[in-house]
Amino acid sequence: MPELPEVETIARQLNEVLVGKIVSQMTVYREKIFSGDKDVLIGKKITKVSRRAKVVGVEFEGFEDVVQIHLKMTGQLIFVEKTKKTQELKTDKTQVFEKRVAGGHPSVDWTNDLPSKHTRVEIIFDDDSVLFFNDMRAFGWVKITNREEREKQASSLPPDVIDESFTLDYFAQVLKKSKKPIKLVLLDQQLMGGIGNIYANDALNMAKILPTRKACDLNVSEARKLYKAVRYVIELGIKCGGASAANYVDTKGLGGTYQNHFLTYKRDGEPCNNCGEKILKVKLGGRGTFYCPNCQV
Ligand SMILES: [Zn+2]
Repeated sequence: MPELPEVETIARQLNEVLVGKIVSQMTVYREKIFSGDKDVLIGKKITKVSRRAKVVGVEFEGFEDVVQIHLKMTGQLIFVEKTKKTQELKTDKTQVFEKRVAGGHPSVDWTNDLPSKHTRVEIIFDDDSVLFFNDMRAFGWVKITNREEREKQASSLPPDVIDESFTLDYFAQVLKKSKKPIKLVLLDQQLMGGIGNIYANDALNMAKILPTRKACDLNVSEARKLYKAVRYVIELGIKCGGASAANYVDTKGLGGTYQNHFLTYKRDGEPCNNCGEKILKVKLGGRGTFYCPNCQV
């Protein structure tokens, strides 16, 4: 599942390639994924692509509504721009140069010809470049939202952990109120936005706290260490362009590299970076949970 750093990365990359593009055609292959009137977008010029929580927002010139995209479990956004160049040789051969930006759930569609059988929405721009929204399991969505809907969303969301409003004070208050295992509190998107399984495991290792500890039992110094660790791993994730544990992604320079920095995630049986003890794996709340039995108490 794409986590905050992966969603932030694709939003930033799309912002670089989509600004200034004008929508010329839009095809919805799967009705349940899309809500809104797609015809209103034709002729509109993109001014900005950004992220809020795990939702990508696309803004247009002179248009108050925003196209919002949620990748959920298996969503991907892939931008493809092809330029043909006819070489002035005896053969008159035409070469096609392709620029590609891909993010979200990694799969062979990142590098394959598109549309594929998982393409749900396709937006073609006036220069023939295309943005594909693919989603194998089709839990994701693309929605045209008005200002009122977006304000309602914003007021029901907790701060993202990289927001300024996510303060140590806020974090400590949340922990104090919960008797649940600390790792489940970190993952609870109703309490704080943006920590997925990879980053929760690594933050707890960095702060030397056992994932199963009751949140309310953490002392002030532990809460501070964990707060810093959470911000650190998420920011490192963004810097690395997210994580993408899949082989083919490197072939075209697609995908992030946070997997090279995993402290505990999917490293069971391997030595802890800090003390050399073997990383253990247990299930907690149905999710793979990785920790060092020596450092984490
Ligand atoms: Zn250790």
